Amino acid sequence: MNRVLVVEDESHLAEGLRFNLEAEGYEVETVDTGEAALEKLHEGMAFDVLILDVMLPGRDGFGVMTEMRQTGLLVPTLMLTARGHSDDVLRGFEAGADDYLTKPFDLAILIARIRGLLRRRNWLQPPAAPAASARKPEDVFTFGVDSDKWVNFDSLELWVRNQVFRLTLMEANLLRFMIEHEGKPVSRKSMLQKVWSLQEDTDTRPIDNFIVRLRRYLEDDPKTPKHLLTVRGVGYQFVAVPA
Ligand code: CA
Repeated sequence: MNRVLVVEDESHLAEGLRFNLEAEGYEVETVDTGEAALEKLHEGMAFDVLILDVMLPGRDGFGVMTEMRQTGLLVPTLMLTARGHSDDVLRGFEAGADDYLTKPFDLAILIARIRGLLRRRNWLQPPAAPAASARKPEDVFTFGVDSDKWVNFDSLELWVRNQVFRLTLMEANLLRFMIEHEGKPVSRKSMLQKVWSLQEDTDTRPIDNFIVRLRRYLEDDPKTPKHLLTVRGVGYQFVAVPA
C-alpha cells in the first residue's frame, strides 16, 4: 500500500484529502506543521509521496523542502500553492519540489498527479537488478570533450568527473530542454513556458539560480562555463562539446 504524508494546516482540507486518498487505497498520515512533517521524515517513517502546502504556520513549505534536500530526505513531493502566486511555483521547484497544484484544485487531478509521482519514484530508490530481457535502453545523453560526462534521464543521475549528482526532476527537465536545443540560444521565457508551463509574465530570476546550480554540477569551472553559456539579452545556450 502506498503511503502519503499530507502537510496541511487547514484541517477541513487535510481531512478531505485523507478521506478521498484512503478511498483510493492509499495509507494517509496528516500533520499540520512543517516541523511535524520533518520530525516524521527524520524518524525514518517511509512515505511514497509528500503533499506539502506552501503556506504553513512556522516553517513553511519552502523551508521543509530545503531541509529535506539538505539532509538527503528524498520523497517525491507535490506542493500546494496559492492561486496567483506563480513565483511560488518556481521557488518550490528551486527548493526541490517535483510537481505542484494551485489551490483550489480538482481532486481527480491531484490523484492523477500522485500516480505520476509514484511512477517516477523509481529514481529515488537504489536500482534493482532487472532481468536482462526486461531491461530497456536507458535515456542517456553523453557530452564533454572526452565524452566524460553523461546524464541519465531515467535515473536523474548526472555523472561528471567520476562524481554523481542526483538531479531534481525540474533540474533534469531544464537540462533536457537545453540539450534538445543544443547550439541555439534559448530565452528565459521559453524555458518558463516549456519547462515549467508558466506564463511569461512570471519572474524569471529563479531560472538563473537553476542555471547556476546546473553549472556547479557539470562545469569544470562554474565561473567560466563551457557547456551552459550565457547569451546576453536572450538567455542561455547549451554546448555539448566545447571547442
Ligand atoms: Ca495553509
